[in-house]
Amino acid sequence: MKKYFYSCIWLTVVLAVFLFLTGCKSTAVEEPAPKTESGARDIHSYSEPDLVKVKNVDLDWNVSFEKKTISGTADLSIERSEKGKGAPLKLDTRDLKIEKAETSSDEGKTWKEAEFKLAEPDKILGSGLTVTVPDDAARVKITYETSPSASGLQWLSPEQTAGKKQPYMFSQAQAIHARSFIPIQDSPGNRVTYSAKVKTPEGLLAVMSAENNPEGTERPGEFSFKMTKAIPPYLIAIGVGDLAFKGLSDRTGVYTEPSMLDKAAFELGDTEKMVEATEKLYGKYRWGRYDLLVLPPSFPFGGMENPELTFATPTMLAGDKSLVSLVAHELAHSWSGNLVTNATWRDFWLNEGFTTYIEWRIVEAVYGKERADMEMVLAKKGLEEEMAKQDPKDQVLHVDLDGRDPDEGFTGVPYTKGALFLRHLELAVGRDNFDSFLKGYFDHFAFQSITTEQFKEYLKANLADKFTDKVSMDDVEEWIEKPGLPANAPVPVSEAFLKVDEGLKEWMIGKIEASALPAKDWSTQEWLHFLGGLPANLGTEKMTKLDAAFALTKAGNSEIEFKWLMMAVANNYEPAYPRLEEFLTSIGRRKFVAPLFTELAKTPEGKKRAEEIYAKARQGYHPITQASVDKILGK
Ligand SMILES: [Zn+2]
Repeated sequence: MKKYFYSCIWLTVVLAVFLFLTGCKSTAVEEPAPKTESGARDIHSYSEPDLVKVKNVDLDWNVSFEKKTISGTADLSIERSEKGKGAPLKLDTRDLKIEKAETSSDEGKTWKEAEFKLAEPDKILGSGLTVTVPDDAARVKITYETSPSASGLQWLSPEQTAGKKQPYMFSQAQAIHARSFIPIQDSPGNRVTYSAKVKTPEGLLAVMSAENNPEGTERPGEFSFKMTKAIPPYLIAIGVGDLAFKGLSDRTGVYTEPSMLDKAAFELGDTEKMVEATEKLYGKYRWGRYDLLVLPPSFPFGGMENPELTFATPTMLAGDKSLVSLVAHELAHSWSGNLVTNATWRDFWLNEGFTTYIEWRIVEAVYGKERADMEMVLAKKGLEEEMAKQDPKDQVLHVDLDGRDPDEGFTGVPYTKGALFLRHLELAVGRDNFDSFLKGYFDHFAFQSITTEQFKEYLKANLADKFTDKVSMDDVEEWIEKPGLPANAPVPVSEAFLKVDEGLKEWMIGKIEASALPAKDWSTQEWLHFLGGLPANLGTEKMTKLDAAFALTKAGNSEIEFKWLMMAVANNYEPAYPRLEEFLTSIGRRKFVAPLFTELAKTPEGKKRAEEIYAKARQGYHPITQASVDKILGK
C-alpha cells in the first residue's frame, strides 16, 4: 500500500495535467501491489499469482543438523494467465541462498538455466525473487539453501530435547516464515499442493503436514510425503527428531519424543471424541488422518494447525486434560483456517475468530456447558484487559497491517472478539439456524481463501437477508470495522465462577483463612479466574499465605503457574524468583514468555533480572520468541 501511494504521487506529478481529474483511479496507472488468487491485494507478499501462479511444489530436501540448514530444490509447477504473457515468476524468500534457477518446457525431462534476480531484503517481507520464465515453460526449479538463522526453522541440540540424545528440528511458517525455507508465493491467498523427499541423518524420524504413515517406525534417513489438497504455504510444516508414535483411534494419534509419549497419549485421549463432535456440527473431517506432534518446550506457540499433523506445545500436558481446549482449537482449524482460509493477514480474524468460537462449541460438546462457559468468561475478561491498553486501530477485526509485520496482528482481538461476534450472531438467530449457516459457509468456500468482504457478502445473503429483524448489516459493520467491543457483545456467565468470587471476597475481607478457600476441587479454569480476580497489588503477605496453602509456586500447570509468576513479579514476591528463572529458561512459548519479560522490565531491578535471565534463556528460544523479547528488552 505504501508503494502504491508513492507511485500515485509520482504519476500525479509527472502527468498532473492529464490525470488531475481522474488521479490515482485512472486505469492507465499500473497497480504495483500484487494480487492473490482470490483477487485480494496482499501487502505481505511480492508474488503476482494473477500473472504467473505456482500450483504445486515438489521439494527435495537434505536436512543438515551440522550446518543447521535445509538444502535442495523446490520444483514449482506454474500456470500463466492470459494477461501474464511475458511476465516473470515472482516469489518470496527470506535469507535464502539461491544457487540456480532452471525452467522446463517438457514436464521436467530437460532443464534450461534461467536468469533470476534476488532483490535487496526488506526487514519485514524478505527478498523478492524474480525468475525469467519463457511463456511455454510450466516448471521452474530453484536450487537453494536456508540460513542457519531461518526465521521459520528451529534447530535444537540434543541437550535442548527431552531425550538429550538426538538433535531436533521443526518449522513454524505462519505468518510469513514459509519463505525462509521455501522460495514460494508466500501469501495465504495462494494455495498449493506439495510433495517432499526428505533426507535426514539415520535414526531420526521426519513428519510433515501431509500424509504420514503411522506404521512407519523405520528410520532409514529418507522419507517421502504428499499433500494432495491445495493449502496456503503457511501450512507447510516439518518436524525431525527422535520421535515415537502412539495411535489414539483409527484416524488419530500422537508423535512425540519417546519419554513423553505415554503422558501425551493420556492427555490427548479425547481427540477422537472431539473430531466426532466437530463433524456432527460442521460436516465431515476432510483431511484423512488427524495426528498431533507434541514438540519440545521451545515451541513458540500453543499449537499450530498444520493439516493432518497439529503441532502442539508440551505446556498443555497438565496431567488432567484441563488444557486440552488447545486441541479443540487446533482441530477446529481443520474447518476454519485450513478448509476456508484468510486471503490476507488483514482477514486473520476469519481464521481465528471462527476457530475460537468452534473451540468453545467442541469444549461444550465434549466437556459440558459449565466448562465452555468458564472458558468464554476467561477469554472475554482477557480481551477486555488487553483492549484497555491497546491502540484503537488494533481493536478492529479487519485490522490495518500496512507497513507492519503480520505477526503483530496476533493479539486477542482476532481470536476472542471474532468469536464473540459469532456468538452474538448465534444468540440473535438461534443455535440451529446459526449452525446451518456455518456448515453452509464451510461447504461453500471449502478449499478456498477468502477476504472479509467475501464473508460479509455471504453473511448478507445467507443470514442478514433471511433474518432481517435479527441481523443488521450496520451492526455487522460495527463488529468488523470499528474498534472496541460493541455494546451488544454477549456477556458469558459461569455459575462456578460466581462461587469462586464469593470465596475470594471472604478471604480478601479477612473473613476466612486462605486454607479455608474451597479450592480443593477447583478446576484449572476456576484457579485462573480466582487469580485473575485478585487485586494487582495483592502484597507479599497474602501471596505467602496462598502459597503456603496451595503451593502455587510449584503448581506444575503451566497456565496457573504463568498467572502466579506474573503476580509474583508485580508484587516482588521473592520466593517465586527461582521458579521464575526455571520457567523462563525451560519454556519458550511466547504467550508466557513475552508478558513475563514485559512485567519484569517495568522496574529497574526487574529489568536487570530480566536481562540476566534472558542471557541464559535466549539461545533456547525460537527465533519468533527471540524477536519478541529482543523488542521488549530493547536489544
Ligand atoms: Zn488458531
